[in-house]
Amino acid sequence: MVSRVIPVDPFDLVIFGGTGDLARRKILPALYRRFRDGQMPDEARIIGAARADLDAGGYRTEIRAAFDEFLHEDERDDRMEAFLERLDYLPIDAMGDGGWPDLKEKMRDGAIQAFYFSVGPSLFGALAERLHSHGIARDDARIVVEKPFGRDLASAKELNATLAEHFDETQIYRIDHYLGKETVQNLMAVRFGNVLFEPLWNAQYVDHVQITVAEEVSVEGRGAYYDKSGAMRDMVQNHLMQLLCLTAMEPPSKFDPDAVRDEKLKVIRALDPVDPGDIVRGQYDGALGASYLDHAEDPASRTESYIAMKLHISNWRWKGTPFYLRTGKRLKARKSEIVVTFKETPHSIFDADAGSRANVLSIRLQPDEGMDLRVTIKEPGPGGMRLVDVPLDMTFAEALGPDAAHVPDAYERLIMDVIRGNQTLFMRGDEVEAAWAWTDPIIDGWQSRGDRPVTYDAGSSGPEEALMLLHRDGRRWRELS
Ligand code: NAP
Repeated sequence: MVSRVIPVDPFDLVIFGGTGDLARRKILPALYRRFRDGQMPDEARIIGAARADLDAGGYRTEIRAAFDEFLHEDERDDRMEAFLERLDYLPIDAMGDGGWPDLKEKMRDGAIQAFYFSVGPSLFGALAERLHSHGIARDDARIVVEKPFGRDLASAKELNATLAEHFDETQIYRIDHYLGKETVQNLMAVRFGNVLFEPLWNAQYVDHVQITVAEEVSVEGRGAYYDKSGAMRDMVQNHLMQLLCLTAMEPPSKFDPDAVRDEKLKVIRALDPVDPGDIVRGQYDGALGASYLDHAEDPASRTESYIAMKLHISNWRWKGTPFYLRTGKRLKARKSEIVVTFKETPHSIFDADAGSRANVLSIRLQPDEGMDLRVTIKEPGPGGMRLVDVPLDMTFAEALGPDAAHVPDAYERLIMDVIRGNQTLFMRGDEVEAAWAWTDPIIDGWQSRGDRPVTYDAGSSGPEEALMLLHRDGRRWRELS
């Protein structure tokens, strides 16, 4: 099966922060891959903007060097130069007034307008304001904003209000790149495109759900920055919360941005406050070199590099089914997955020693995106009725052909969705605020009680206390490796 590439309409995409790490490592490589696949029309134009005093030629040289670093060797073919030719650049200070008239001059009437704010959030207001005061942004322009979207409810509200002064909610694309992952969308296809799963997708049949985002990397090099947020703000409030919402939400009436986001919002609002005893926070020790405290450059830091928690959703579908979330740095493996463990059969007709197992659906986000469903079958052979678990592997390459082996990076899909004007995979302002409203009291509680994270061995599966969190419920975390 050959995947269809449908070209998008001509666009002018301005990347503020066009020389930064995100632009060099993610945004521009993603755009190049879409160009290479024929999705970008000839009239598409990309304009980098930052304070650096470059011209278009100098910018192309910078991005060529970035591509040498961040693209695979076999991607760097003759099409790379053709792509670089499309890049333009303007020196613009978000806080100043120089360069804006030149930008206005470059924008074309017939092309879709998109402005990617790949700069720190403190500049969002200045950019939004100047795009209007200089008469650049049209009413149908789109802006893309990156995380972190606030650090608590108050700052998220302020940011939303600032953007709302100049842009309508339908123009604002808040990126959470986890939502652009192929498997995350497949979760919706599997749930809502089949009759098989949805009748079982509730507390009556699901024993528990585990959502894991484990990283091997430490915070070395950005410890002082990371220490101001920690795992709760950096990962749980956004990425894990989004995965939880997609797993737990009711079927939307249609696959439409507001219908999907309304259902996600209801999940966040149905979350119970978390008992402090159901949360484990950790910091990695120095088993593999420097510890978290060394990297954070603050020997007294109480910020967590690991968090595990048990959540309950108070609605008809999920009352009684726990959702276990965990995420951390410097763990034994890099692995992100959503795992739905179903209940065991109510009665086994087989001998006790035949074994009885629960069906498990795992949705892998990384490293190798795919799904598998473990089902119980008879162990082959003449040795009587013994049961064994086998995976029904839904790694799509075999069924869908070699094209399915190339899974587009989340940024490729999300940027094309911006150009198409489809907000389904972007967070709405009220969703972000609801997630902070749930997160804030937890963080405030740690601060008022003066809670300290426990330590865990760098390169391990996390703190012992996190193992106990499940153990006391008679359950176990999935292996990380
Ligand atoms: P970065 O490497 O520090 O780049 C910042 C960019 O902003 C540079 O191009 C910089 O160029 C430009 N800039 C700074 N001040 C400016 C001003 N006053 N006017 C115009 N341009 C200005 O940061 P980054 O890692 O690319 O991150 C950008 C945003 O994405 C941040 O909000 C970050 O939190 C978010 N984000 C990043 C990642 C990632 O993997 N890097 C992941 C998720 C979210 P000049 O200094 O030349 O102006």
